[in-house]
Amino acid sequence: MSTQEATFHDQPPGNALAWFASSPEGLSSPEAAERLAQHGRNELPPPPRRHPAVRFLRQFHNVLIYVLLAAGAVSAGLGHHVDALVILLVVVINAVIGFVQEGKAEAALEALRKMLASHTPVLRDGSRQMIASALLVPGDIVLLEAGERVPADLRILSAHGLRTDEALLTGEAVPADKLPDAVAPAAPLAERSSMAFSGTLVTAGSGTGVVVATGQATEIGHINRLMSRVRELKTPLTEQMDRFARGLTLVILAAATLLLLHGMLLGGLPFSELFMVVVGLSVSAIPEGLPAVLTITLAAGAKAMANRHAIVRHLPAIETMGAVSVICTDKTGTLTCNEMMVVRAITACNAYEVSGSGYAPNGEVRSREPALQTHGGNALAELALAASLCNDAALRYGDGAWHAEGDPMEAALKAFAGKVQARPEDSRQGWRRTGCIPFDAAHRYMAVLNRSGTGDTVIHVKGAPEELLAMCTLERGPDGTARPLDRAAWHRRIASLSAEGQRVLGFAAGATADGLSSLQHHHLREGLVFIGLLGLIDPPRPEAIAAVAQCHQAGIAVKMITGDHAGTASAIAREIGLREPQNVLTGAEIDALSDAELAGSLVHTNVFARTSPEHKLRLVTALQSMGHTVAMTGDGVNDAPALKRADVGIAMGNKGSEAAREAAALVLTDDNFASIAAAVSEGRTVYDNIRKVISWTLPTNAGEGLTIICALLFGMALPVTAVQILWVNLITATTLGLALAFELAEDNTMRRPPRRRSEPLMGLELLWHIAMVSLLFLCAVFGIYAYATDKGHPPELARTLALNMLVVLEIFHLFFIRNIHGTSFTWKAAMGTPAVWICVAIATTAQFAITYLPPMQRAFGTVAIPFADGLLVVVAGVLFFILIEIEKQIRLSLKAAALG
Ligand code: ADP
Ligand code: MG
Repeated sequence: MSTQEATFHDQPPGNALAWFASSPEGLSSPEAAERLAQHGRNELPPPPRRHPAVRFLRQFHNVLIYVLLAAGAVSAGLGHHVDALVILLVVVINAVIGFVQEGKAEAALEALRKMLASHTPVLRDGSRQMIASALLVPGDIVLLEAGERVPADLRILSAHGLRTDEALLTGEAVPADKLPDAVAPAAPLAERSSMAFSGTLVTAGSGTGVVVATGQATEIGHINRLMSRVRELKTPLTEQMDRFARGLTLVILAAATLLLLHGMLLGGLPFSELFMVVVGLSVSAIPEGLPAVLTITLAAGAKAMANRHAIVRHLPAIETMGAVSVICTDKTGTLTCNEMMVVRAITACNAYEVSGSGYAPNGEVRSREPALQTHGGNALAELALAASLCNDAALRYGDGAWHAEGDPMEAALKAFAGKVQARPEDSRQGWRRTGCIPFDAAHRYMAVLNRSGTGDTVIHVKGAPEELLAMCTLERGPDGTARPLDRAAWHRRIASLSAEGQRVLGFAAGATADGLSSLQHHHLREGLVFIGLLGLIDPPRPEAIAAVAQCHQAGIAVKMITGDHAGTASAIAREIGLREPQNVLTGAEIDALSDAELAGSLVHTNVFARTSPEHKLRLVTALQSMGHTVAMTGDGVNDAPALKRADVGIAMGNKGSEAAREAAALVLTDDNFASIAAAVSEGRTVYDNIRKVISWTLPTNAGEGLTIICALLFGMALPVTAVQILWVNLITATTLGLALAFELAEDNTMRRPPRRRSEPLMGLELLWHIAMVSLLFLCAVFGIYAYATDKGHPPELARTLALNMLVVLEIFHLFFIRNIHGTSFTWKAAMGTPAVWICVAIATTAQFAITYLPPMQRAFGTVAIPFADGLLVVVAGVLFFILIEIEKQIRLSLKAAALG
């Protein structure tokens, strides 16, 4: 048994089965395990990674670093060896941090990618199972559904309207029809309609196929043209910051040159010393660590989101998520548990209550009017037969409970059929499916054609009851014969079931001409008989109720978009706590509105029912035209355009299709609305942290730079020497700023309105903060220097005090920045985070070392500080902290007042 010598497209499907010793029931688990060992996993080799050495060297490829290296070289040339060494250390430590963090970030993204590994329904041991696509082996029987990627090369065994998009392999843009019939041996790939190829997308229909090749043996494995999976660690935001940092470097270099000329004209300092001072200024003012810290911040955010069940596929979505002002969400499975159970059955002449628990196929089906118990029994049995035939799901017993395989709603129908019929496993006995129209959110029904044991061919249809009622003219009467349909009565029954929040399904059946061998939509127009209704419950997720309330608090509107009935949608919306649940707009009503009218009606409408995927696209566009930042969920293949159009497209990891996941920026691993709210909170936190990193770095750099500029401009003695300022930069730029990347959400993160997308990252507020903080730095550093000189301290001590003053200010500034939206005087703020304490500990230790260790004292020209003076420096830091904290409180309350 080898895949190489055989071709299958030109053989009948049976040959492929025989070749792989498989059968329509699939392989057994032991056999599959053996084949897995023999053929290997169904995977293509990952794209090659860059060599670590290359990655490390890449860290130096940066204008900022070039400037630093040039400065270092010149310093060494001028004989300032300590300065050169410190500059070199700055560069190397920066590169090491960048290297390590980038590696971690890439590994984290890789891990996220693995979490999105695809799963595939197969037949094994005679039953339907979901398995990881990587575990497929030749001979496995795979079930294909619209929206999924074909997981391996398959020989088609059966197909119902099956089409795949093979552009990836053949370049052909039009989806290809797939059929079981053999084709000519010489047919090129694009014409092998009897094969489905790994990596291509199922665009419509359903079918089954037997795996003939896996992993590298597949066609896609041969050409090895894998969609590049390497993800960039860049986002528009980090690119904007890169540009900003480069621009700032140029400005700093220009300013430095001017200062050098000015100093030379003034003639105060000898040139080599002057030059070092200007180098020190440039090095400290250049925010060389900023781009790396921002990337780290984003990566930390991606990880935090993953911990809360939201996997980021596109990094920019992290910050966009923080700006979301409207969330459009599916109902079934996202707001509700998607654990369905049939509780009501209604036929033309009776109504039943169905009891039981979970998916167990046993329980009571009791007539609501006991006197009528015997009547209409036939219709009930027919309902159960339709429910089990028009069905692709399976029930599986394991671990003491029944589980759903496939669509939970269809599994619930299976359980219901089991309750009506004596032996559920017999329900399909004697019936063989010969045609099928799969469910599609656009037409909202599913139909099957079956041949019974006695040779009759029967159509069964299930779906949205209004759709079915429109097809039927007859209903099943009490004596089993068909009678004219009483539409009004059925609509009353539908309304009463859906008002209770039940999902209502209609069922119809019809005999057909014997010769019919495949099912088309027009066959459903001919004499179908309406059998009855089933009402299903699907309880709301308790955590979704809490999450909706949280979103409302956070100023985010939540809108529910569902294919379900208006009554059901409204009832569930009320249970979930959506605003104004009584206002429902249906797909048909949306169609009748112009874009402007639609936008107008969106203000007070949060429930959209009986919609199709196109409506989602219109809704997103309308909301965006109103200035909203829209998050939209989706799971079907037709949801892709809306997911792409939305500011953040969110796909479901479990029930969603591969097509939706590929179009989305975010994938939920638990399909849960609560995870969307969590992702918003994380997104806001990341954006805050980016702001914090910038708000801390820029004033710190500006403060250091300004101190030197003032001294030079006014011909004063330097309060810190060039090598000392390089040292401060080494300690702070590489440690303290990094701590902010790992800040947790502030308490009020989800009690603030969403930020506007247009709000600039570096606005007036930040400019004001930079100006204020750098001025305070200036006052404190010159102040302590003046104090020391006044007291008659030697210049070395005065400088050491000024140096420590700078670092103490930076540490206090760090603690201040941790809470930009609230007060820093809380227990939580005082506790800090591990990252903060590690960084503070490193900085403090380094300061003690440079102040008290003799070799370092010699290198940096420092001296030991007396205790009282050291205390004074810390007290000055506390004062600084209190001052800027008061300013923040005033600013926050002014802002709150302005917002009303
Ligand atoms: P939702 O927004 O609840 O996910 P869907 O688009 O899945 O809505 O379904 C819309 C309607 O289509 C349902 O209310 C139901 O009447 C019908 N429907 C859903 N799934 C199926 C199915 N597998 N077979 C037949 N009809 C279905
Ligand atoms: Mg659905």
